[in-house]
Amino acid sequence: MNNYYYCIDVGGTTIKGGIVDTDGIILFSSWVKTRTFDGSITLAENIMSLVSNLEETSNLPVSKAKGIGIGVPGIISEAGVVCRSANLNLNQYPLKAELEKILTIPVKIANDACVAGLAENAFGAGKDFNNYLMLTLGTGIGGEIFINNKPLRLTRCFSSEMGHMKITDRNIRCGCGEYGCFESVASTIALERQTREAMEKNKDSKMWEKYNLETVNGKTIFEFKDIDKTAATVFKNYIKYLGTGVANLINILSPEAVIIGGAVSAQKDNLTTPLKEYVYSHIYTRNERPYPEILNAKASGNAGILGSKCLFD
Ligand SMILES: [Zn+2]
Repeated sequence: MNNYYYCIDVGGTTIKGGIVDTDGIILFSSWVKTRTFDGSITLAENIMSLVSNLEETSNLPVSKAKGIGIGVPGIISEAGVVCRSANLNLNQYPLKAELEKILTIPVKIANDACVAGLAENAFGAGKDFNNYLMLTLGTGIGGEIFINNKPLRLTRCFSSEMGHMKITDRNIRCGCGEYGCFESVASTIALERQTREAMEKNKDSKMWEKYNLETVNGKTIFEFKDIDKTAATVFKNYIKYLGTGVANLINILSPEAVIIGGAVSAQKDNLTTPLKEYVYSHIYTRNERPYPEILNAKASGNAGILGSKCLFD
């Protein structure tokens, strides 16, 4: 049997993996904790411990797989080097070369947001469109632009870094070192920070009844936006930031659709309805052009695993 792939989704806290058949069905899955931060274990070793777990539970040896595909948060070179990953605390780490010392099957590595985009294109909401963009709202904002169902690549190595377009003069430093980046105000992490800051300033907010500064998360605002003034203000500003970025991208690309993935997209219409309202009233020639669809990703939960399989399509 040689009709399966090992598919790995590296995240800042967990590494998820699956064995996926040629039709994109996940046959087995497992995960391990990400342990690269203190240098006691390399990313290749961390990934191989997950590969061993999968081999044990499945009886499908990695040596017989058609390949191993891996999504990694960060800038990944064509040679499979993790040039920079703030989330994993890695610089110039030759992941592909390290894995090829251990494995004899083809190894393919790509940026995690690009991988999620590929999954959405093949299995999710992207199936219905040819020219669209996908935004993943998580620790940062990643994404992929699809032209005729192919990821847009204008230069050899880099994918689109939509998360780092500048959209505000607010003095908020982004993980990239710059100020005013889209992801520094519109990622899930940014929403959590905005919620925390608002709670600190407004001790009478109802959010204190259920949350404290440690337990606040990306869902808090959605729970309270209709019943608490502080939460409503945070939400309105967040939609303005997110909507500004999305409107800019629509003005530049004029896509058929914008697909929103990542943790915040679990809020479904609670996110997309106000987002559409903001975006549709701020895009250029709003009365003359058809409104691009704005919708939630469908492959979200397993996008990292399924997209890693798509690296071989
Ligand atoms: Zn940035």
